[in-house]
Amino acid sequence: MPRFYITTAIDYVNSRPHLGTAYEKIAADVIARYKRLAGFETRFVMGNDEHSQNVFKKARENGEDPLAYCDRMAREFLDVWARLDLSFDDFIRTTEPRHMAGVQELVRRMTAAGDIYEGHYEGWYCVSCEAFKQEKDLVDGLCPIHRTKPDWIREKNYFFRLSKYTQPLLDHFRAQPEFLVPDIRRNEILRLLESGLDDISVSRAGQAWGIPMPDDPGSVIYVWVDALINYATAVGFGTDQALFETWWPADLHVIGKDITRFHCVIWPAMLMSAGLPVPRQVFGHGWVHFRGEKMSKSLGTAIEPLEAAQKFGPDPLRLYLVKEIAFGSDGDFTWERFEERYNVDLANNLGNLVSRVATMAEKYREGRLAAAEAPGRLAELSASAVAEYRGHMDAFALEAGAAAAFRIVDAANEYIASTEPWALARDAAQAARLSQVLFDVAEALRVAAVLLLPIMPRSAAEILRRVGETTPPGQLTLDAANWRNDGTRVIIKGAAMWPRVDLTSSRSTSVDETAPAPAPSAEKPAPSAQSPAPSAQNPAPSASVSAPSASVPAPGADKISIDDFMKVDLRVAKVLTAEKVPNSRKLVKLSIDLGTEQRTLVAGIAEAYEPEQLVGRTIVMVFNLKPAKLMGIESNGMVLAARPDGRKPTLAGFDAEVRPGTRVR
Ligand SMILES: [Zn+2]
Repeated sequence: MPRFYITTAIDYVNSRPHLGTAYEKIAADVIARYKRLAGFETRFVMGNDEHSQNVFKKARENGEDPLAYCDRMAREFLDVWARLDLSFDDFIRTTEPRHMAGVQELVRRMTAAGDIYEGHYEGWYCVSCEAFKQEKDLVDGLCPIHRTKPDWIREKNYFFRLSKYTQPLLDHFRAQPEFLVPDIRRNEILRLLESGLDDISVSRAGQAWGIPMPDDPGSVIYVWVDALINYATAVGFGTDQALFETWWPADLHVIGKDITRFHCVIWPAMLMSAGLPVPRQVFGHGWVHFRGEKMSKSLGTAIEPLEAAQKFGPDPLRLYLVKEIAFGSDGDFTWERFEERYNVDLANNLGNLVSRVATMAEKYREGRLAAAEAPGRLAELSASAVAEYRGHMDAFALEAGAAAAFRIVDAANEYIASTEPWALARDAAQAARLSQVLFDVAEALRVAAVLLLPIMPRSAAEILRRVGETTPPGQLTLDAANWRNDGTRVIIKGAAMWPRVDLTSSRSTSVDETAPAPAPSAEKPAPSAQSPAPSAQNPAPSASVSAPSASVPAPGADKISIDDFMKVDLRVAKVLTAEKVPNSRKLVKLSIDLGTEQRTLVAGIAEAYEPEQLVGRTIVMVFNLKPAKLMGIESNGMVLAARPDGRKPTLAGFDAEVRPGTRVR
């Protein structure tokens, strides 16, 4: 059996996880569950990062022992993760003896390789980032991430000869183009490597909270170095050699895009120094924003994952995060959009199909379906969707995998509409045909449910039960997604899985009591892990390389980088309403739909378009432009149009239908 070892970032425990943190874990869980379904012996590890000075300070503020504080937070994290049905096999905490032993062993090996030396560090240190800052990283003397003044520290530190690994890392990146994905992240790191690496400090002096340097108890190992090693200690490095040899190197580290430098430069260099294989792949995912803003506890834009999971149960949330956000890109969460997708994908589409199959099976065939002739066209469509699903899931294009599964659901609903079983039932000569249509639709639903097992484990298991799949979900493999035109299926009728909700324009934060309570998972319960892990939001020092500040513009200085371009967020929008702005010849006021939200903006196109020509039209707009007041109206964005000299503007558009909210680049 092939093996697959997957990890997530381990979380800082100074605050509870928010939806952005949960997103990473859910995505990794979907991958882990998919790999199990695809026949891999899979090990999925999460954990908590506990040796942060912030944790130490927070515990002290609470008058708590730091370890007792970490224990308490670990219980909170594990409770959240269990309610999201995360199927991790192990949960590592960096205060565990197995981790501390492995960390010291790895540092010992780096020392033996001649890569650790003693020196002094003098410079800025942001405690919130837990990172050293260079002068050029600061903005007005402040940490650009935390807007706080970093500490100036001068202390004895141990340094790692990271510089020595510049060339080996470059060679590795060139030999293994898939080492870091998506490509945009890889390009950032390649540029960093090409500019050359400096040695880094790997210890802090005079601190009580942390893992001591092997031969100098007066120094503790820098928290990031400590944290990265969790991926190895969780599979026995330094404590269980047989386990380590079974699972190392990791196949995939799933991490946030802000910490790629740690995972793709420092971590592989540490492993190279210690004579260990480097992980096979690192995936740097994007952020889930709330209404287009980065989630932040202090700004009140952080969503509690449990609140979102309690609304309809964990599966609709899992589906939303996987299907609505291209894995690797940033995405957006709003309550309105969440409810809308729930109604579209689940209440009206999948849930409706589940009900129709059961109702028709009962009405026309007393709940027992059997094939009566060759399968109809659904079989072929399903086979192609399954093949697409596999290709996308193997490439971690989770959103496309989810979409492929839903193509089968769409097709089955359309098949019912076009074959009209109710009409067939009125004609005795069509009995075999009716049996086959009903069987085909139930079979399509079964296949879709197999594909949805990694994404919506509870609901897919329930659908499989209702369509008469007799193999327990935990024992199914992707082979079960092959079309079967045999056997008798006993179809079970049940309550509506996803009752439609009325869309709320202004929502209350209370949990909808009428939503079905999540049933206890039929699947493997989350392990009652003893320990928690590091966070996806560990603020990381900037991995970007600043350009040389030359006073003479270099050749090509008038060109911008792809990163500069990507700062401009262009989106597709649909015009909902349009009206002329009074007392203005040029301006028209538009309300537009961006898929996730509606906005008002003012555009200078009134000379070229009548308001009624604009309604329903698809436009391109600058999504992240600062609001501006025009004729007293606040405009939230700018419409793109060509403005030929002396002629009327012409709106930018597309030659195919594009969904509002789609990014343009
Ligand atoms: Zn900071």
